[in-house]
Amino acid sequence: MSDEDKPHLNLALIGHVDHGKSTLVGRLLYETGNVPEHVIEEYKKEAEEKGKSTFEFAWVMDELSEERERGLTIDIAHKRFDTDSYYFTIVDCPGHRDFVKNMITGASQADAAVLVVDASEGVMPQTKEHVYLSKTLGIDQMIVAVNKMDKVDWDENKYEQVESEIDELLKRIGYKPGDIQYVPISALEGGNIAEPADTSPWYDGPNLLEELDNLKKPEEPVDLPLRIPIQDVYSISGIGTVPVGRVETGKIKPEEEVRFEPSGKTGEVKSIEMHHEEVPEAGPGDNIGFNIRGVGKDEIQRGDVAGHTDNPPTVVDEFTAQIIVLSHPSAITAGYTPVFHAHTSQVACTITEILQKKDPKTGEVKEENPDFIKQGDSAVVKVKPQRPLVIEKLKEIPQLGRFAIRDMGQTVATGAVMDLKEKE
Ligand code: GDP
Repeated sequence: MSDEDKPHLNLALIGHVDHGKSTLVGRLLYETGNVPEHVIEEYKKEAEEKGKSTFEFAWVMDELSEERERGLTIDIAHKRFDTDSYYFTIVDCPGHRDFVKNMITGASQADAAVLVVDASEGVMPQTKEHVYLSKTLGIDQMIVAVNKMDKVDWDENKYEQVESEIDELLKRIGYKPGDIQYVPISALEGGNIAEPADTSPWYDGPNLLEELDNLKKPEEPVDLPLRIPIQDVYSISGIGTVPVGRVETGKIKPEEEVRFEPSGKTGEVKSIEMHHEEVPEAGPGDNIGFNIRGVGKDEIQRGDVAGHTDNPPTVVDEFTAQIIVLSHPSAITAGYTPVFHAHTSQVACTITEILQKKDPKTGEVKEENPDFIKQGDSAVVKVKPQRPLVIEKLKEIPQLGRFAIRDMGQTVATGAVMDLKEKE
């Protein structure tokens, strides 16, 4: 199989600063043959010149970390490697400036995470912070790489101690035992990354690349219910009504019945066009125009969402959301009614209740029913749209489960829908 034929997984590397995330990325790329040969050659040459007879990965990583300090940065975002079953892209890591924002807005949705924990330090503040964020943002699968095992002489007891400490944390946050795997590794020296480490005879589980290969395939947007947020509606003479939009999830074919919500109109798909050519079907990512029978141009509009009649888009009466306040000059209180931007719709919504204020980093509830929230706060809020709005639960259709709150020309907050009540 070539890389392109394999299913694709977005992987987040998370963990406390200095626990070895960058080193592990380098190691994974190196072991899978993704550090270009000329780079290795250059380092080999340099190593020889500096009196190092053998090429060592650890040395390369130290050189790279020096480069990083000098601001030359190996950019660890968007690195790719593959295993037998998948090809992986390493997405933005927590710690990068816009990580939380990118995750909430869906700019960098990870399918799985590798949590890197220094065996000599165990759970540290950012370990908790990142694990909590991952759970909130819907990353259910996690591989825990207990790293720097060389620093603790590959001590089995130490490994077990760290494992149980992390296990306790993950379960408390809501991870299920079957979705967490543990591997003792040394990113720097190697060991249980691509091959078993002879230093850990007590460990006979899969190595890290095998664990990555064992991850469950995420649900493809094509298997989710059809959702096409409508961008525009045209009326073309001789053809009829042609709504235009990007298929977010599911598939659409001619002759199917589709419903537009919140307009509540139903019609039959006559034909689908993409790049000025008729196509027999369209799926996630396709920008299409489709000719619809039985619906007039003025009966539907931008902000409507098309879906199949047997699983139509959800029009909400109210919903509960997790939000992060990015920028607001004063305080947000119940009654605040800014404009919510979700897919192609913009609807004024009232924050009717602030249920909880949370520490945005650890998810710890800081206050129940607070009077107000401010910039930097994370909160669970209840929201009432002032006009009908289609939005879905993040868990069910992530592509339609996120929104941005805008007011006074800027993005005040971003959020995701945790629960909702349908309009009768
Ligand atoms: P990050 O902040 O999580 O990206 O951590 P880095 O990858 O920059 O690593 C921090 C320090 O730990 C560096 O000096 C690495 O060389 C070192 N380090 C990383 N992995 C290992 C390991 O497996 N064993 C040892 N002994 N040191 C490691």
